[in-house]
Amino acid sequence: MLVLSQVSKHYGDTQALAPTDLQVPAGETLVLIGPSGCGKSTLLRLIAGLIQPDSGAITLEGTALTPANILQTRQRMGYVIQEGGLFPHLTVRDNVTVMARYLRRDTGWIQSRLAELAELVRLPQALMTRYPDELSGGQRQRVSLMRALMLDPELLLLDEPLGALDPMIRYELQQELKSIFSQLGKTVVMVTHDIAEAAFFGQTLVLMRDGRIVQTGPFRELAQKPAEPFVEQFITAQREPMEQLAAVLR
Ligand code: ADP
Repeated sequence: MLVLSQVSKHYGDTQALAPTDLQVPAGETLVLIGPSGCGKSTLLRLIAGLIQPDSGAITLEGTALTPANILQTRQRMGYVIQEGGLFPHLTVRDNVTVMARYLRRDTGWIQSRLAELAELVRLPQALMTRYPDELSGGQRQRVSLMRALMLDPELLLLDEPLGALDPMIRYELQQELKSIFSQLGKTVVMVTHDIAEAAFFGQTLVLMRDGRIVQTGPFRELAQKPAEPFVEQFITAQREPMEQLAAVLR
């Protein structure tokens, strides 16, 4: 279980995250959703230990995240960002194995883990020696996911992992990612601004606005029992273009 208790963060005068409580049970996929600037990435970066909270505590399976243990706890998390965040000067193989090599893991183990992950994300072996700019956007995200999974983390953090992809590739990767999550049984926290994607992935959705959680629950609950008018507005705003499209086709 990942637990956030009264975690907050501000930048200058901006309250990026008001004191926030959140619990993610082990093995569950939780999706952070909300308009741009509402604090989704800030929340994810706090969990990843990339930034420090002003107040509050974050614990992963009972261990509090502190600046002193951040290097160890980071090894228990995999992190994927929108553009993949791959090192441009490293090949696919070197990108995926960089941490394992730094930690001096056994070479044989690294090789077999690399092959296992390539199979899991369906990345052809022939791409292992390519550099990130020699890959398509979808392939880059597959590599980024391999890198995040290399050390078999308990927690997977994904910040708009499919946001930069064109719709067809995005659809394909959504299906594959979901199947990968259920195969691996990992705890996943994903950020998206797309309500359909959130509903597709998340057992629990956390809808945010202005650095606060507005409502937490399954999509059905948000849609049927909105906690405030904003929830309904947020869902309707994204649903309408799809309904207009469906009307044209009828
Ligand atoms: P989201 O991911 O939902 O788009 P963010 O978490 O990135 O939102 O941002 C929340 C708020 O914090 C925004 O007002 C943003 O401008 C501000 N913010 C985020 N990162 C920084 C930063 N490094 N310095 C200053 N302000 C920031």
